[in-house]
Amino acid sequence: MSIKKNLFYNKKEDIIEGYQDHALQGRSPQMATHALVFMIGGIRKKLKQPIAYYFSSGSVTADRLSVLIKEVLQHCFDAGVNISATVCDMDGVNKRALSILGASVEQPYILLNNREVVTIFDTPHLLKCFRNMFLKYDIKCPTNITSNDQIGFGVAKWSHIKEFYETDNTNPNFVFAPCLKQEHLNPNTKQKMKVKLAAQVLSHSVAAGMYAKISQGELSSEAVTTANVIANMDKLFDCVNACTPDLRRGKPYSTNMTNNTPHLTHFTLMKNFFKEMTFLGCKRAPPSQEGWIWSINGIERIWRNLSSKHKSIKSLETRRLQQDPLENLFGCIRANCGCNSNPTAGQFVAGLKTAVLSNLSFIGTGNCEEDQNQVILTNFKSLLSPPTDTHTAYATILTDELEESVNSTFECSLEESSGEIQACAYVCGFIVKNNLNKCEICEKIFVSETQERSHTFINFKEYSDLKKSLKYASKNLINCIESSATMIYDFLEAEAYKKKLKGTIKVLFKNSINWEFLDECPEHKDMNIDYLFNSVFHICMKRFCILKNRQFAEEYSASALKRKIDILQNK
Ligand SMILES: [Zn+2]
Repeated sequence: MSIKKNLFYNKKEDIIEGYQDHALQGRSPQMATHALVFMIGGIRKKLKQPIAYYFSSGSVTADRLSVLIKEVLQHCFDAGVNISATVCDMDGVNKRALSILGASVEQPYILLNNREVVTIFDTPHLLKCFRNMFLKYDIKCPTNITSNDQIGFGVAKWSHIKEFYETDNTNPNFVFAPCLKQEHLNPNTKQKMKVKLAAQVLSHSVAAGMYAKISQGELSSEAVTTANVIANMDKLFDCVNACTPDLRRGKPYSTNMTNNTPHLTHFTLMKNFFKEMTFLGCKRAPPSQEGWIWSINGIERIWRNLSSKHKSIKSLETRRLQQDPLENLFGCIRANCGCNSNPTAGQFVAGLKTAVLSNLSFIGTGNCEEDQNQVILTNFKSLLSPPTDTHTAYATILTDELEESVNSTFECSLEESSGEIQACAYVCGFIVKNNLNKCEICEKIFVSETQERSHTFINFKEYSDLKKSLKYASKNLINCIESSATMIYDFLEAEAYKKKLKGTIKVLFKNSINWEFLDECPEHKDMNIDYLFNSVFHICMKRFCILKNRQFAEEYSASALKRKIDILQNK
């Protein structure tokens, strides 16, 4: 699922969220643009549970993905979860990662610790891919006509479906395929994403209608090949989308697979179809063509494995081998982010947690059939635990009061370098004012007795001349805070994606700043350093993220503008 580039300092984890984060494989300086989610679903029981997520930049490699898949599988095994198969879509990286793990079209499984895990691709996605290719290219495929022991070939054409639609709609009242519409025949980009439209056009009723029109001479006999392809694809999709133990709607291929159902025979026929067919004019066979053979081999293998290992398993509901529950989870997360189709990493995590807590009960008008799965997770303790707060009371005051009020000023003032020191003085004034340490010696260190040039800005910020609510920080303090901030920004520019930021920066802070000006009060020196650190750390973390996010927003609007100009110039 794609997410928006955005940085956010997570106090609980002490990391800046928004960088590529592959957990045990480490974090890296690239910005995250995608959330990668792993979910487990039951084959027999209607269970589903998201179990892991990672943040990736657009360039996640197949090598890394294969490591992550292994990691997740290992964790499942360790937890006693029996994984019989993995499902993903036909994305290039997904397929390469599975290949690295040893799976192939003919051997669609991986071995991990001597356990076999079958790999298949999401069949609704494969159906869409097939339809999209068929829209563009005619299909040359074997027919059931042979002559002199030579198999005959026919050509299936999308234009036949259009012809059928047109002749069908010349009937004033009744048509063979009433559900067929322009959006099926000429889908736009958005409609091409819809599985339902693909399933409706590659359907039994369209095939039957075409056969009838051919027999009446209203459609060319050439269209038989097209009708055959449609009829076979309809049966295939029923086979891989089976979800009922009985003959629903009288469709035998929609019933759960057993050794006595026609599924296995049809699988053999269709594997041969995909092996022999070519998309005419297409330079290379599309990945989905091999993807179908791979997935059919996979489903057959899952069935063999399950039915031979477990005598109690008499049938297989093939719809459970799809990734609909995962896509519904994404819909749920987007809904939890306020219908935000492009949430940030932070919003994604929050949305995911909400989705898990609300039992993933999202009923949307999405691309997937509503699934009736239950979640497994019942222990919400760790999800709901409050942040492990290691900050002092000072820090709490800062985050609640100081930080908010300071940031807006700090933010706009720091832009003009001439105002920098003055803005810093203003921030220091707040830091002094919020200091709970009321020691008189310390007060002398921090507060300036005379008003200096650097305090001009504070003067203007005073609401009333009579009541001086803001403090004038001492020169020493202003210099200290200013050099601390510079040091922290320099560090963040290079290492913001790393973990344990607070600890690392604190060591740097203690070692690289001149603390002599605090020597006048040895009793409170350490406490003062801690207080100054907590103050400046939180302000700088927040400001760093604000500046970066502003940059991302500018980049985004620049690229959006470029897209619009390209469209206007017909590029
Ligand atoms: Zn003191």
